[in-house]
Amino acid sequence: MEHLDIPALQKLDAQHHLHPFNDNAALAKKGTRILTRGEGCYVWDAEGNQLLDAFAGLWCVNIGYGRRELGEAASKQMTQLAYYNSFFQCTTEPTIALAAKLAELAPGDINHSFFVNSGSEANDTILRLVRHFWAVQDQPRKNIFIGRHDGYHGTTMAGASLGGMKGMHKQGGLPIPDIHHIDPPFWFADGGDLSEDEYGLVAARRLEDKILELGPERVAAFIGEPIMGAIGVYIPPRTYWPEIERICRKYDVLLVADEVICGFGRTGEWFGSQYFGFQPDIMPVAKGITSGYIPRGAAMFNDRVANVLKAQGGELAHGATYSGHPVCAAVALENIRILQEEKIVERARTEIAPYLAQRWAELGEHRLVGQARIAGLVGALELVPDKRQRGFFPDRGSVGVMCRDFALKRGLILRATWDAMLLSPPLVITREQVDELFDKAWKALDDTAQALGR
Ligand SMILES: *Cc1c(COP(=O)(O)O)cnc(C)c1O
Repeated sequence: MEHLDIPALQKLDAQHHLHPFNDNAALAKKGTRILTRGEGCYVWDAEGNQLLDAFAGLWCVNIGYGRRELGEAASKQMTQLAYYNSFFQCTTEPTIALAAKLAELAPGDINHSFFVNSGSEANDTILRLVRHFWAVQDQPRKNIFIGRHDGYHGTTMAGASLGGMKGMHKQGGLPIPDIHHIDPPFWFADGGDLSEDEYGLVAARRLEDKILELGPERVAAFIGEPIMGAIGVYIPPRTYWPEIERICRKYDVLLVADEVICGFGRTGEWFGSQYFGFQPDIMPVAKGITSGYIPRGAAMFNDRVANVLKAQGGELAHGATYSGHPVCAAVALENIRILQEEKIVERARTEIAPYLAQRWAELGEHRLVGQARIAGLVGALELVPDKRQRGFFPDRGSVGVMCRDFALKRGLILRATWDAMLLSPPLVITREQVDELFDKAWKALDDTAQALGR
């Protein structure tokens, strides 16, 4: 491989590149890690370190790195017709085919896609079009969205407002009006003496309380990630989503499942709603739709919403230059073809998920781990000061970072949110690679415990 002048590149990066979700001053001092290559579940950095990527980039590289077919699909489409828009009563063949393919895959009667470039934009689209949906039916006051504290729905004005991250709300004057939040379902910290199933109902009924407080005639939609990813992989009890669904139906509140992480096989089902057994009305998708090879998102709507938008919506005053980008659609189609033909989602569910769950539970026995939670191929290890209690370290966050850095030294990429170590490997991970993941994670936990003097 060509030799890179790492310090020179790091210097240029520090001078000219603002990094998202980073303290840029601190990062400039430390220097960024430069990644150069990927193959399957591994990536390599500029120093030549081989790293097992147990986070699939950023929850997205579902089919693994280095699949030439996706590059070839992009190349073919770029050569034939690099771009055309969907504005001027036009579209392109890959965009039509992708919309049809998504309708086939999506649960229930979610049959309609509005294409965008990211998960954040999908959520912006949903906020606007849902408010429009109610407004054209003479209910302009039914415009409130309810999300969850600590939820994550992206970083645009609407995305960050629908999300409930306090640190994000502090920057840029958020949340925008008419967005409310309820507490998230996090049994580990919040469940008290309740069983998980009892707690799931209690957590869901916070939605009913909030709807009644605001007035059902004011509440347009509820939005939630089937599994709350960014905050630390909060996997709700089995009772939670069916109860949320019941409440939404009762008050005619649209149910939005943010499938940006869960979609396209993360839980071993195609969509998170299928894993939990509920039927959303609307879902944003992104990330796994292209396995991260190219940007693409979609706001997907069921027949009821789409039919009103079509029949009564008039001109939809919304869209992006790249809404129907044919190259992104071609890559998404190729990614989905591979997921289907190689039965990657089924294999993840039947062969890998049970084995991963077993090894994850073994990691849960480590003295630093208070809870090992997992659903399909997404999980977390909650690091705690006292294994017998469901409590946090006083200096929350520092132990997670320590463990993450130890893992990296041992050639394993895990993400840390607070003191939870997050897992989301490519769906193509093998049993041998699960063993490698286990060994490296266990050693990183040992390193961390030792550094803490435990
Ligand atoms: C990543 C993410 C988003 C935002 O997607 P971007 O493509 O980063 O804009 C939205 N919702 C969830 C649940 C996500 O994890």
